[in-house]
Amino acid sequence: MNARPKKSFGQHFLHEKRYIERIVSAISPRADDFVVEIGPGEGALTLPLLAAAGKLTAIELDTDLIPGLQARAASVGELSIIHSDVLKVDFTALAHRHGVERLRIAGNLPYYISSPILFHCVEHAQAIQDMCFMLQKEVVDRMAAEPGSKVYGRLSVMLQLACRVEPLFVVPPGAFRPPPKVDSAVVRLVPLAADQLPDADPERIHAIVKAAFAQRRKTLGNALKNVMDSEAIMSADVDPKARAETLSPQDYVRLARVPAA
Ligand code: SAM
Repeated sequence: MNARPKKSFGQHFLHEKRYIERIVSAISPRADDFVVEIGPGEGALTLPLLAAAGKLTAIELDTDLIPGLQARAASVGELSIIHSDVLKVDFTALAHRHGVERLRIAGNLPYYISSPILFHCVEHAQAIQDMCFMLQKEVVDRMAAEPGSKVYGRLSVMLQLACRVEPLFVVPPGAFRPPPKVDSAVVRLVPLAADQLPDADPERIHAIVKAAFAQRRKTLGNALKNVMDSEAIMSADVDPKARAETLSPQDYVRLARVPAA
């Protein structure tokens, strides 16, 4: 189990048993769950998850890790490895192919692409029962941030409109080999039921949120001037003089519902 961790793949292998146990217990996989792990690495989470669920699908980009993982899993359960970049895996199609309604996704994510992975999962949220991820603590803080907070931004709004965000616990650098430079945290994301999803075009919401936070020091009227005018902003009951970080996720949904001029 001593492959040299590759920086380019964001490899920080978890070795402290108590954190591994806490993550596995937060997931508590059952035999009838379809569990998908992103970035199994050397199997720190894979093997205990596999032992609990009996079968598991893991998505790993680093070819060099795959034979060792297969060998270690052989006596534990049925491990199926998808050798791919997770961003290319269509979770909705994966669920359909296996005849399951919803996947349970887990992973100690490669931090260099943690936000793209989160957005990718959100796109497939209706095929996902829940997600339990280890991320930089700073990213988890942004995901769970409330309006008015310094770290409230695009990630907070887009994730909170798609999922319930539950930060679980912090994991210090020393729990990994090699230790990352920052604290990490485990978070659970539970996709909202279809009837709780925003009643507006997701792409329109995204365009507005992106424009608003791209210039977060400006007033909304200014930041959104290429997307909608002040009159349209007011028609959504939002003050064009307000700043992006003071609006709730629901305010953005109302802005996205204003018919385009
Ligand atoms: N789960 C292991 C653990 O906790 O020790 C490894 C976690 S390590 C932080 C991230 C893992 O994701 C590595 O195994 C890395 O090779 C893999 N990885 C990196 N980029 C990936 C990508 N685009 N798609 C899938 N896996 C990736």
